[in-house]
Amino acid sequence: MNTKEYKQQLLDKLYAPYQNCLKCPLGFQGRTNVVFGDGNPDANLMFIGEAPGRDEDIQGKPFVGRSGKLLDKVLELVGIKRSDVFISNIVKCRPPNNRKPTPQESHICKNLLLKKQVKIICPKVICTLGAASLQGLLEDYTIKITKVRGKLVDWENIPVLPTYHPAYILRNPKQLQTLVNDIKTAQKYLLSQE
Ligand code: URA
Repeated sequence: MNTKEYKQQLLDKLYAPYQNCLKCPLGFQGRTNVVFGDGNPDANLMFIGEAPGRDEDIQGKPFVGRSGKLLDKVLELVGIKRSDVFISNIVKCRPPNNRKPTPQESHICKNLLLKKQVKIICPKVICTLGAASLQGLLEDYTIKITKVRGKLVDWENIPVLPTYHPAYILRNPKQLQTLVNDIKTAQKYLLSQE
């Protein structure tokens, strides 16, 4: 078994007991699927969004709706294959009416799943998409995305590159190039580590 297969097995084992998770309020608020995340289990680059939306909840996969299509486009623009990265979210269940996950929900899900996913995948850099993702990961709800966007910050000894959420770019298309440039910064960082 190669590393990729081994890590996939570990991820499957991690996910299995949580397919009908009821550990936080989101488990009782109408979600369809626990959207674990997908992609390369041995990825150097990991993306973390906020929470599944309607399409993600139905399909059980992260970033498959409008934001996901934009993320696909950005990845294509910078020459990254979606199958080479791993994509997940701070919380794995859709909050009702796409409200923001609460700090409590984020804390519970991060400790039960996200932290363990990161430990298995061991990405060299993490890209957080949007303020809620960055704040949920760092558990710092005062941090401003406008201040740290595009700059590497540390989370548990892993470099994190905060950038905009694709949904924000859908509302503010003029910022598309900023998102592209931020992902290029993450790419450059990876190259510098080779
Ligand atoms: N928005 C997110 O933050 N995550 C998804 O998976 C989809 C949309």
